[in-house]
Amino acid sequence: MMKGFGTLILGLLLFAATAQAEEQRFHFERPLMGTLFQITCYGEDPEAAKKASEEAFGVGEEINKIASDYLADSELMKLKPGDPTKVSPLFAELLDASFTKARETEGAFDPTLGPLTKLWRETRKTRKLPDPEVLAKARAACGWQDAEWNRETSTILLKKPGMQLDLGAIAKGFTADKMFEAMKKGGFPKTCVAAGGDLRMGDPPPGRTAWRVGLQTFDLEKPEEVVELANCAVSTSGDLHQFVEIEGKRYSHIIDPKTGLGMTEHVAVSVIAPSGTIADALDTAGCVVGADKAEAMGLKFGATRVVVRK
Ligand code: ADP
Ligand code: MG
Repeated sequence: MMKGFGTLILGLLLFAATAQAEEQRFHFERPLMGTLFQITCYGEDPEAAKKASEEAFGVGEEINKIASDYLADSELMKLKPGDPTKVSPLFAELLDASFTKARETEGAFDPTLGPLTKLWRETRKTRKLPDPEVLAKARAACGWQDAEWNRETSTILLKKPGMQLDLGAIAKGFTADKMFEAMKKGGFPKTCVAAGGDLRMGDPPPGRTAWRVGLQTFDLEKPEEVVELANCAVSTSGDLHQFVEIEGKRYSHIIDPKTGLGMTEHVAVSVIAPSGTIADALDTAGCVVGADKAEAMGLKFGATRVVVRK
């Protein structure tokens, strides 16, 4: 089975519009990064659409091979603490976006939480909070300020022993962006790429002014709000599907860098932004800073709209 970053389809439903004129609607899907990636596009030529989608999924698979922390031989997993490493151009782009967002959000989005997210996956299985010593050790190996990303030389240095990156909070949005670019290049600007709770849209379907997207957070039956979007992205995160309950307390899969444990505030954050990369990083950071601060922070660092539900 394919494994990847975050694991669940979260938050967003896509309503397909009916095609008009001679343009048809095409739909393709493939499991990737622990979720189902879906491409919906409009165009005239089924063969060309298929070909473009193959290209797009190819890009998605390439990013997974680079950035997955589930694949032992990914470029990310091969980084050795203490060893400055020059990375591939695609990885460089992802790292650059990641460390930019880490700096802006002052570490609410932290791409260096690998040791803690690994420990937390264990916690979710065993339903037992980690031993304080083990937790302290994992926390000591994390911290975005102890990773040195050099944009000029495309070099990353993880300074602490045991340090490991986890880009699960940004990679799906980044991948949706890159897959959308591939579709556009292949002649399909009227495309929506959905990666679980991350959507990247291009031009609207024929005869429409926008894509209709349902923001689904706590209501499992239906979306709480339907928004109309084009040429932008939307991403939702929260403790709706992925959480663990321990001794009556509910912990999210989003880690609070201050405690090293899952967040306990019941909140969902949807971010609309020009790119999936920005939206994905900011939805996670929004959950970390909490319901009261998520909107202001999101708007400050690239979101055009932030919807907070608690
Ligand atoms: P989803 O995977 O449901 O789309 P997110 O975009 O919020 O949700 O990503 C959550 C994943 O990001 C976690 O599973 C973990 O791998 C990683 N992560 C958890 N907490 C943080 C954090 N504070 N900063 C950066 N990444 C995080
Ligand atoms: Mg995210």
